[in-house]
Amino acid sequence: MKINGEIWIVAEQVKGNLKEVSYELLGKAKELAVKDGFPVTAVVMGSGIGALPADLIAHGADKVILIDAPRLLLYQNDIYALVLENLIRKYSPGIVLFSASYSCSELSATVGAKLRTGVAAHSIDLYYNEQGELVQVVPAFGGRVLGEIFCPLTRPIIASIKPGVFKKQAKDTARQGEIIEEPAAGLEHYQSPLKAVTVVQEHLSGVPLEDAEIVLAGGWGVGSAEVWQLLEKLAQSLHGAVGCTRPALDEGWAKGEHELIGVSGKTIRPKVYIGFGISGATHHVVGIKDSGVVINVNNDPNSPVFQISDYGVAADVKELLPKLLEKIEEAK
Ligand SMILES: Cc1cc2nc3c(=O)[nH]c(=O)nc-3n(C[C@H](O)[C@H](O)[C@H](O)COP(=O)(O)OP(=O)(O)OC[C@H]3O[C@@H](n4cnc5c(N)ncnc54)[C@H](O)[C@@H]3O)c2cc1C
Repeated sequence: MKINGEIWIVAEQVKGNLKEVSYELLGKAKELAVKDGFPVTAVVMGSGIGALPADLIAHGADKVILIDAPRLLLYQNDIYALVLENLIRKYSPGIVLFSASYSCSELSATVGAKLRTGVAAHSIDLYYNEQGELVQVVPAFGGRVLGEIFCPLTRPIIASIKPGVFKKQAKDTARQGEIIEEPAAGLEHYQSPLKAVTVVQEHLSGVPLEDAEIVLAGGWGVGSAEVWQLLEKLAQSLHGAVGCTRPALDEGWAKGEHELIGVSGKTIRPKVYIGFGISGATHHVVGIKDSGVVINVNNDPNSPVFQISDYGVAADVKELLPKLLEKIEEAK
């Protein structure tokens, strides 16, 4: 079944500031819209956010649906999902794109369940095939294959996309668009059992992974918390940031989810990426595909990670890391 209906993006804002991923979703939606000819609509929800539609239009939205209501001040799953469900039922868009951030991953799944339609979570690409169907590309089976997801029977098609995967369009403040104000429909008689109290921004030390020019990422092959400390020391002396794979996070070596790179973590574009003891699973590699120079250290000379590397070092991380640290200190 071909797409019949507008492409929507659900813009994500925190405390009245749009997240970068909202612009990235607009960039992709514009690309898809060229093919199907429908306008691109951004939906933005919150309280006291009247300035945001102009910014969304400047970044490519043809229309913005603004829902500005006091009960939408803080993101709360049941409330946001109810309002969005009613809005989607009213306008019947063909495609709705969400960010795959923590809150929007949850929101997209809830809205999809309410509307009984398909949700392709953590998509890494979206395109139309020759039959005009939307193909949603999602890594599957431990990242060894890329699954092509179709949603032939129900509408809208819902996809969530990680921040950093798509590129935003250049801002054009001269762009004109339509702004439609809608009430927060459905909340009149709804009493939530929950109450969102505040949004807390975590302040983390060191260079943020997504801004770092040099990223040193560690995987399961690092082998121990002691060797992980050497990796952190090396990152510090190179003014870089530390990233990790899922197993390194599960082992408790990495400091937290904010260091995870890949489909369920961050998408990064450093000038130099150096991976230590990483096998190159698609789930991880999609997060580094736009990096500059990619170097990997692995003790298996036949590791598939070398196929996606500009430079490969067949070596044991335990032995190489202390030597690297020594050389860098010497050079300083
Ligand atoms: C839905 C889903 C989402 C996922 N999302 C993510 C994600 O966002 N990010 C992510 O990273 N993973 C993710 N994963 C997990 C992913 O599929 C892989 O399992 C993971 O990336 C592999 O991590 P790794 O390379 O550290 O470990 P492994 O695959 O176990 O590889 C370890 C590598 O280290 C090498 N090695 C071993 N010892 C040494 C040594 N002493 N010196 C040098 N090299 C050594 C080995 O040869 C091997 O190549 C996800 C999985 C699923 C199912």
